[in-house]
Amino acid sequence: MNILVINAGSSSLKYQLMDPDTGAVSAKGICERIGIDGKFTYKAGGKTIIDAQEIPMPTHSEAIEAVLGALVSPEHGVVASMDEIDAVGHRVLHGGMEFTESCLVDEACKAAIRKCIPLGPLHNPANLTGIEACEKAMPGKPQVAVFDTAFHMTMPAEAYTYAIPYEYYEKDEVRRYGFHGTSHRYISGRALDMLGKTENPEGVRVINCHLGNGSSLCAMVGGKCVDTTMGLGPLAGIPMGTRCGDIDGTIIEFLMDKYGYDIKQMMNILNKKSGVLGISGVSSDFRDLEAAAENGNTRAKLALDKFFYEVRKSIGAYAAAMGGVDAIVFTGGIGENGIANRKRIMKGLEYLGCQIDDEKNNVRGKETIISTDDSSVKIMVIPTNEELMIAKDTAALAK
Ligand code: AMP
Repeated sequence: MNILVINAGSSSLKYQLMDPDTGAVSAKGICERIGIDGKFTYKAGGKTIIDAQEIPMPTHSEAIEAVLGALVSPEHGVVASMDEIDAVGHRVLHGGMEFTESCLVDEACKAAIRKCIPLGPLHNPANLTGIEACEKAMPGKPQVAVFDTAFHMTMPAEAYTYAIPYEYYEKDEVRRYGFHGTSHRYISGRALDMLGKTENPEGVRVINCHLGNGSSLCAMVGGKCVDTTMGLGPLAGIPMGTRCGDIDGTIIEFLMDKYGYDIKQMMNILNKKSGVLGISGVSSDFRDLEAAAENGNTRAKLALDKFFYEVRKSIGAYAAAMGGVDAIVFTGGIGENGIANRKRIMKGLEYLGCQIDDEKNNVRGKETIISTDDSSVKIMVIPTNEELMIAKDTAALAK
């Protein structure tokens, strides 16, 4: 089976053609600068065949045409015709309270995604545009929407309710939603498998640390989300590359009053200029921060210390919320590759029964257990694979 996985942003569109059973990717790439000058990249057979070639892409429709043209091209295509593409799976950011799982795209599904635009104003319109461009290019082909928020809909009310007047929940659906749900769901399945608990997951407590440019933690019991650090939007939780994470709302009033910022300027500061970039003034990239800290940059060191501290604190909070923890997982660019970072986060959590094994921890991007044999909590590295999850959901719903 061949599933085309699409992740459409406002000016970009990432794609992968994937076998949902094996996870094998036959082709992938990205369309960038859609609506500007259009750049197309296509990789197949492990090689870059088209590298940021300028192709006119006034809209997402031309981007999809370029993708399909490359996939079926007699020269470097990977399928003989579009008939060999069985279905299309779309990453959609916000499913609001409408979606607890993935759904086959129809008019009702599109209307519900549209209804969630106020909750995901930057992403949901782009996700819809990607869906509509595929409908136009491949009429009748089954399409599936997979939501970043859906996995978190099992959270109990005390975890998702904000302590603000309840009418904002009732009238406006203001609550914690959480993101990275497709990644957390993938990790949940893999962690249970590695624990030998796929058949009987009841009561198994896992904390997943998805640490990348955007970061979130998720607490799961029996494979289901019971809490997560992101909120109504992806700004909440631990500090990230450029996002502030949890802050006191008073800061917003204080800075807006003092500097005369409007709310757009303020949100731009909190989304784009904060996090480890904001503290360090150096970079949002952890490799740059590590290099700067090693060279004596004290603000870079503080940014790293703050990040590790907040991740550790969230792990402790979730262990308390779940009455203990059986496994802690690291994923995302930092979680999968940051050997020293993992060690620094776990330092101080020995009281929970977490013992990291330095030799086993000396690993990047590989699925493995990095705790000592006698550690009562299993510590794991699991490279995430959101695309595979999207392809599997798509295949199941398109059948
Ligand atoms: P992501 O958003 O998941 O792609 O993750 C991006 C982050 O992963 C960036 O901050 C990178 O610096 C970080 N990262 C990637 N490779 C490494 C590495 N070898 N060591 C530490 N951090 C890394």
